[in-house]
Order: sequence, then structure tokens, then C-alpha cells
Amino acid sequence: MTLVMKFGGTSVGSAKAIQRTANIILNNRSEWPQQVIIASAMSGVTDLLFEGATSAASGDAVTYREVAKKLRQKHFQVISELLPTGDEGQQLTAQLDKFIERYESLCKAVLVLGELTPRALDAMTSIGERMSVRLIASYLRHRGQSAQAIDATELIVTDDTFQGAVPLMDNTTVCSEARLRPLLEEGVVTVVTGFIGANEKGVVTTLGRGGSDYSAAILGQALHADEVWIWTDVDGVMTADPRLVPEAQTISTLSYREVAELAFYGAKVLHPKTIRPVVENNIPLWIKNTFHPEKSGTEIVQERSESNGDIKAVTAIRNLSLVVVEGKGMLGVPGIAARTFGAVARSNISVLLISQASSEQSICFAVPAQATKDIVSGLELEFRRELMCRDIDRITAQERVAIVTVVGAGMRGTPGIAGRLFSALGDRQVNIIAIAQGSSECSISMVVDNLDTAEAEKAIHALIISS
Ligand code: ASP
Ligand code: MG
Repeated sequence: MTLVMKFGGTSVGSAKAIQRTANIILNNRSEWPQQVIIASAMSGVTDLLFEGATSAASGDAVTYREVAKKLRQKHFQVISELLPTGDEGQQLTAQLDKFIERYESLCKAVLVLGELTPRALDAMTSIGERMSVRLIASYLRHRGQSAQAIDATELIVTDDTFQGAVPLMDNTTVCSEARLRPLLEEGVVTVVTGFIGANEKGVVTTLGRGGSDYSAAILGQALHADEVWIWTDVDGVMTADPRLVPEAQTISTLSYREVAELAFYGAKVLHPKTIRPVVENNIPLWIKNTFHPEKSGTEIVQERSESNGDIKAVTAIRNLSLVVVEGKGMLGVPGIAARTFGAVARSNISVLLISQASSEQSICFAVPAQATKDIVSGLELEFRRELMCRDIDRITAQERVAIVTVVGAGMRGTPGIAGRLFSALGDRQVNIIAIAQGSSECSISMVVDNLDTAEAEKAIHALIISS
């Protein structure tokens, strides 16, 4: 029985957190004799590594030194708390110091060159995880558990896309089995770096920010794990943002599709891409809270039979603008939508919601507020001729709006859901500015004023609780 468990930055971010993590690992030993642990860098470390590297590239000779100092303080402090006596602590300090030294010399090289390549950045940012796994493994040994830190450069074989590498699963499977299985069979807890891999030549790559979840899923697939557990600092996936809706509850089961919708519309859940390997292989995936390990968390499954009318969760993205292109001359003219979104794409902005009225006299879509100006001027340029001859009357933007999205695969084919949503909002005096429903019927999105976001979430959440 193989269990892959991933611990995020906050779960390894301090001595206390690492103790908590170790307790979770040790408490599950008897039930799960073969455990692969994937760890992120201590919280804040990856950001610091990026900051030092990019500042050096822009000619700043001071910041990366401060970063190195902070990294030493942070890690050495934790070592002194977790391993106060004995050789293990000293050896570990020396080891981590070497990583930081190497980071500093890479920063120095970047400073001299004035150039930071994605490949160099991957080498530099990979040390956060290399340090955290050594810390965790040492501490587990200190607690009497045989454990070994392993760099995923030995396991996860990727292509050459530095900063966003794609795993080559066949090679990864062979390498991971060969390297990890013998250790697992001996009862050694293997503690593997999240976030990183190596290309076929052995050059370190990273899977992109937040990539440790992906690492866990990749190894889950490669090792045919029986389960994958993602440990984080929240109680699984919630029915709403608990900061806006205090009654929010943990959702016990979610389908892959629902996770994807929630992630797209701003909920803080796993990135759907990162969990695809486990979900597609039907490996049970759990999201659990390090701070409440006794709670069961959320299970993510490939698909599940939904009970009718099931609304699962509500989520919101604030600080958006609704851009409207309108004009009587747009009626029946092909190509307006294509040109509109072509112009938007040239600004490199991702559109969050699109809606067009049936008379075709207007198209509206939501974009992040900070992109509004660029988009409107891009559209004015694209449609300068139509604006001149009044085929398009105006291009406007309504600022400070939010998208509130309701997710639930069980809404499919259930009549009356939209009606219930709209009356719930109407009862609370929340005005709906625009609406969109995906054809998958797995989500319905409503554009409301920014100021109405919390009220709208609460109103809809009351429906979830009562359904
Ligand atoms: N440490 C990396 C990051 O902060 C990867 C991760 O935490 O998942 O992006
Ligand atoms: Mg992280």
C-alpha cells in the first residue's frame, strides 16, 4: 500500500509546522508502511529566491545578499529548534549553507551578466525545496524514523520548458520505481522535493509556481499509489470563502470538473492540470488540513453521480471590469466577436466571462480591472472604422464589478436553478448586471457590483445549505 502525501509551504514553514507534519507522517505509519512525502519550500522561501535572482539581473547588488541572509536565518533557526544537539543539526546546517552559497554565486553571475535565463532561474529557485526536504528527513530521523531526502531531479524527467516543465511519464515511472521502491520496501520514509524535476540531460527544471501539487500527482501516477493526500492550511474545499461566509462548510466530495470550475472562478483549490494524473488514473485524492488532521477533508473523484439540483459551492472574483461593445450596426455582421476577442488576446489578457444579447447589438465580457484601459484602447483601434461610421456606437467599461459563480455538476438538466439563484439575489437587493452559463451546465456565473459580492455569496450559500 503506497501513500503519497504532499505538504505545502505553510505545513513546513516553521519548527512547529514541521513537528506537526512529522506527527502526521508518524501517526499514519502503521496503516501506510510505504510513504512518499512531497514537500514545498518553507513558506515565503520561493518568493525570496525569485526576488534575489530578479533584482540581481536588474543590477542590484544588495538585495540578493539580504535574501541569502534571510534564508540562513530562517533555516538555521528551525534547525536549532528541531535538532538542538548532536551531529545531525551541524551537518544539516553545513549542507544548507552550501546551497545558499551556491545561490549567492549564481546571483553574482547573473548580476555580472545582467541577464537571467529561465534555465538559471530554475536552478536558483530549486534550492528552497532541496533545503526543506533535508530538514524534514533529518527531523524524522531525530524522531527515530528512518527517512531519506531525495531530489526529484532523480525521479521526475521533464522536457526542456524551464519554468513550466512537462513531465515525460514513461521515463519518470521507470526512474521513480527504481529509486524509491527499494527504499519504501525497507520502510524508509522518502521525502521528495516538490516543484522540481530535471530534463533528460539531468539539468534541473521547475514545474511552475505552486508546482508541488503537480509533483505529488506525477509521483502518485508513476508509483501507482493507492491514495494521494494533499496537506494544506484549510479544511479541504469549502462551500464558500469562509472570510465572507462564516457558515461555509467543507465539501466532502467534488468531481474533477467542479474543481476546474472553482479554480477558474477564483476559489483557492488545486489547479486542475496538476491533479489530472491522479484523477485520470482513478487514484483517490484527498485535500486535508495540517492544522486539523482529524477532519476528513475533501475527496476529489473523476466523476460522480450527482443528486439532482445539487449546488456545491459559490465562489467570487472581485475587481473586474465589464467591457461592452455595442452598436446597432453589429446586427448580423459576422466577425465582430472574432475581432473583439482577437484584439483582447493581443493585450495578452484572459477573458473570464462572455455574454451576448440575442439581438446581437452588444457583446460584453469581464476582464481584470487593471487591464481595462489597454483593452478599451485596443478595441477602439480595431474598430476605428466602425466607430466612425457608427456601426459600433460605443465601447465602454463598467468598472468595479465581480463575478459570482455557482458550481455543481448536479445542476445539469435540473430546471429552476437559475430562478432560485435570481430570486435569492433579488430578495437581498443584489442587482445582476450580466449572466453566463457554460454549456456543461456545471456552473452559472453572475456579474454584480463589487460591493455586493459578500451579500451575493451569502444569499447563494443559504441555498446550498438548504438544498
Ligand atoms: N515552492 C514553490 C512555490 O512556491 C512550489 C510550491 O509551493 O508548490 O511556487
Ligand atoms: Mg507554495
